[in-house]
Amino acid sequence: TQHLLARVAAHRGLGAWLCVDEDGALAQAAEADRRRAAGETAPLLGVPIAHKDIFVTRALPTTAGSRMLEGYRSPFDATVVQRLAEAGAVTLGKLNCDEFAMGSANENSAYGVVRNPWDTGRVPGGSSGGSAAAVAARLVPAATGTDTGGSIRQPASFCGITGIKPTYGVCSRYGMIAFASSLDQAGPMARSAEDCALLLSAMSGFDERDATSAERPPQDYVAAMRRGRDGADAARPLAGLRIGLPREFFPQALSADVDGAVRAALAELEKLGAVLVDVSLPRTELSIPVYYIIAPAEASSNLSRYDGVRYGHRAERYADLLDMYKKSRAEGFGAEVKRRIMIGTYVLSHGYYDAYYLQAQKLRRMIADDFQACFAHCDLIAGPVTPTVAWALGDKADDPVKNYLADIFTLPASLAGLPGMSLPAGFGEHGLPVGLQLIGNYFDEGRLLHAAHAFQ
Ligand code: GLN
Repeated sequence: TQHLLARVAAHRGLGAWLCVDEDGALAQAAEADRRRAAGETAPLLGVPIAHKDIFVTRALPTTAGSRMLEGYRSPFDATVVQRLAEAGAVTLGKLNCDEFAMGSANENSAYGVVRNPWDTGRVPGGSSGGSAAAVAARLVPAATGTDTGGSIRQPASFCGITGIKPTYGVCSRYGMIAFASSLDQAGPMARSAEDCALLLSAMSGFDERDATSAERPPQDYVAAMRRGRDGADAARPLAGLRIGLPREFFPQALSADVDGAVRAALAELEKLGAVLVDVSLPRTELSIPVYYIIAPAEASSNLSRYDGVRYGHRAERYADLLDMYKKSRAEGFGAEVKRRIMIGTYVLSHGYYDAYYLQAQKLRRMIADDFQACFAHCDLIAGPVTPTVAWALGDKADDPVKNYLADIFTLPASLAGLPGMSLPAGFGEHGLPVGLQLIGNYFDEGRLLHAAHAFQ
């Protein structure tokens, strides 16, 4: 913990941290030492981690990357935070992210950009950009992230680390500041599939405080990750595993370096025994308009709670109640958040609901069905995480649509609620990391982690 706190201080320029809790971390580490001396063997005992600042914490401020929540203190810990603490993890602090997790580059945080440790002139991806940068720069071995439309997988890919978004419902959303509730899901970001499995085992599980939490017995993802290896041919641990390659994930427009690194990774998987099969996700392109209708619709509703009354920013001067709402929200929210509230309000409004929101919901179902048709022919699906490597800071900052289009390969699994993973595949242009995406069927995290672990 001491060593990492020194590294965190030395790499302040990355902009990854929104708060560092030196005293608290050292106290937790000392407590972990005591527990260890007493013979305890919790799997994460004394392991330093950090949380995306979208998880509420009692001991530390929570901002969600927004001015709206500047100085906010939660009276409780998010379930994910609480479970990792119980497993013995030491919290070093909170990590920067796009405002309310809306973004693909971590350029929408009210507290400044995060820089990609591989090239500090480039973005780390988003919205869990602080988490990805902190793990990639070895400031912390693992961090939490959240993924609504790719926010764990895409920054993991841009920063050359491993991240998993579990099936919707595996990790509790209690205390995770809501963006789009039918899509939001927490997950770990770490250096390897094995570390992700360790964290996920601690973070996941049924929580009665989240109505969409999956009612399943606790899972041991480390055991699931190893399963299949005993007795299996050590040289071909993935023998017989059918990996589907959706042809829509390899379009002409895919940059040559990403295509090359992903195909090289697929060849490695074949050497390990996997069988590659062609499949199709015909509505891949439609996932962009579908997501950018549904997510803002839910966001516009979720963000209505920031009214300046109960908590969050309140304007100093106002004429009456309505004026107080208007001024507080105008001052507290950033441009991208306002854009989403306006889009969301529009698509939900009388007269447009049928034309946009309802159509999007129907397509969402069809996208989920397309995946099930694929899983009749394969066990896992593989492809790129993003169409390009990390772009330069500012490159897409003034064009939201350019950001949205880059989400094309992560949105389908989000809309279907399926587990998805990003793991380092190799390097592309300018020596920048390229991620391989693996998508599994519902609750098949064990198989995903097994394949990723074998590959690593
Ligand atoms: N880039 C997507 C968006 O801006 C996804 C964000 C996320 O997963 N939180 O909405």
